[in-house]
Amino acid sequence: MKAERESELAGYAMRVEDSLGRRYAEPPHPYRNDYVRDRDRIIHARAFRRLENKTQVFARRYSDHFRNRLTHTLEVAQISRTVARALGLNTDLAEALALVHDVGHPPFGHTGEQVLDRLMRPYGERFDHNLHALRVVEHFEQKYAEFPGLNLTFEVREGIIKHSRDYDPAAHPELAEYRLAEYPPLEAQLIDPADEIAYHCADLDDGYEAKLLTLEQIVGEVPLFAACYREVERRYPAAPEKLKFNEALKKLLDTLVTDLIDATRRRLRQQKIRSVDDVRRSRARLAQLSAPMARENRHLKEFLYSQLYSHRHVDAERRPTVRLIEEVFRYFMEHPRSLPSFYLAKTREEPLHRVVCDYVAGMTDNYLRQQPRADRRNLTRR
Ligand code: MG
Repeated sequence: MKAERESELAGYAMRVEDSLGRRYAEPPHPYRNDYVRDRDRIIHARAFRRLENKTQVFARRYSDHFRNRLTHTLEVAQISRTVARALGLNTDLAEALALVHDVGHPPFGHTGEQVLDRLMRPYGERFDHNLHALRVVEHFEQKYAEFPGLNLTFEVREGIIKHSRDYDPAAHPELAEYRLAEYPPLEAQLIDPADEIAYHCADLDDGYEAKLLTLEQIVGEVPLFAACYREVERRYPAAPEKLKFNEALKKLLDTLVTDLIDATRRRLRQQKIRSVDDVRRSRARLAQLSAPMARENRHLKEFLYSQLYSHRHVDAERRPTVRLIEEVFRYFMEHPRSLPSFYLAKTREEPLHRVVCDYVAGMTDNYLRQQPRADRRNLTRR
């Protein structure tokens, strides 16, 4: 069975036998390969379970079927597996990377990320959720007696930091081992477009369901969705609006994923990419939408920014969370002894602001709300 599966892998797929391996050597498992084990370790991690209580877009849950960061992650894993399989890539590695791709996200989605980044700047530092995810899997997950973190393979750690951005090697000497001048394998490259496809479709769905977006508005302003909807109307003119919307959304998702697969395959052929080394040294990222579809996708993104992410209801939820994060951060800067012992011990090796940032970033939305705040007493006196 093993030989059969491996022969399905394309020449440019990352083979588990070629992995650069783990930081701490471990005996092989009798029937799970290293990428399968990495995927399983991620699923069993605390940071993974916490995704359930981290905001994706809506801080307020309109209903239990709205996405949170965990269900979003499962959708990214589904799309990533599909794309990886269609391209002859390593689905185990792609799935592990999809499941881990958001574990570095702080509470309250992108607002949380922006606020922590702003709070770190006076110290000459930044907050980046990809780099934080690497710290989570390397340091903050404590499960094994023999080593800190999850001891993931090199390619999973590399994919965590490189799936959605490139780095200037000179600016990040601490990441030198991750071959910053090279692109990561295709299994890591496909995570970013899969992530974007997943949240674009999900946000249309949830935005419509929350009645923040109307069907007329989406059809009027997103040409790609309109084309899908017209087709559905032709086929099911009498179907209820909600079902037509669902059919059109399904078609939109399929159109984007199919384009991603076809465009990537075309690029691999045109640039004569035959090995992982070719992938690493290519001129640009290879797993991307075609140029015309990327344009359509940009319209969709702009629509979501202007009509959903900056909708007054979504914006109104954002403001109190900004203040909450600032006040909790300040509280622990002023009262480091209130940190849990694990984090307090870390202040001996690292500056306080970094430890506080790590602690706050690891919190769920709910847990953050339960924390003491810097000016709590002033607030209650008012
Ligand atoms: Mg994501």
